[in-house]
Amino acid sequence: MNEGLIPTSEVAYRLIQEFNKLPGIGPKSAQRLTYYLLRAPEEQAKLLADAILSVKQKTMLCSICFNVTDVDPCLICRNDQRDRSKICIVEQPQDILALEHIKTYSGLYHVLHGAISPTAGVGEDDIIIKELIERLQDGSIDEVILATNPNLEGEQTAMYLNKLISPLGIQVTRLARGLPFGTELEYADDVTLTRAIEGRQEF
Ligand code: ZN
Repeated sequence: MNEGLIPTSEVAYRLIQEFNKLPGIGPKSAQRLTYYLLRAPEEQAKLLADAILSVKQKTMLCSICFNVTDVDPCLICRNDQRDRSKICIVEQPQDILALEHIKTYSGLYHVLHGAISPTAGVGEDDIIIKELIERLQDGSIDEVILATNPNLEGEQTAMYLNKLISPLGIQVTRLARGLPFGTELEYADDVTLTRAIEGRQEF
């Protein structure tokens, strides 16, 4: 930590340091959270600690779509009300949250867990592509929607996937332009995201 005061309690300092390792939490926020918990009822701290441990110990990846889930297959994959002829491909599980939130899309998903990025040393074999292609072999899928992020890595990944999937006789679509280039799907606002998925175009 390069900002903020070192507290007089080493135990409190330890928690501040742990919070500070989290994305989006700077030293000041880490201090605020720590001192909030110091004053909060012990029960609240226990609930937080249990929720943190549970997310590590009691969740898994769905063996079909690789979304984060408590049961395998996940609730989306086992839902018969969903349109089972469409798969929307996203980079991260939190992208599914964003898409489910707008309630426009009712098909299935596949989570790549990353994007191809030669500069970061992430190749085709480092993200979950092989399992996706296997899943597309049974002829039940009519459309694959490439919903990778509108940035360099996302575009590279979409182009690579289009090359693999088009020859299978499956329609490949890409989210409509309108999502600002360089952004990430999970931060898109609802209106923009709804327009992007409704206005999706043939790749
Ligand atoms: Zn699933």
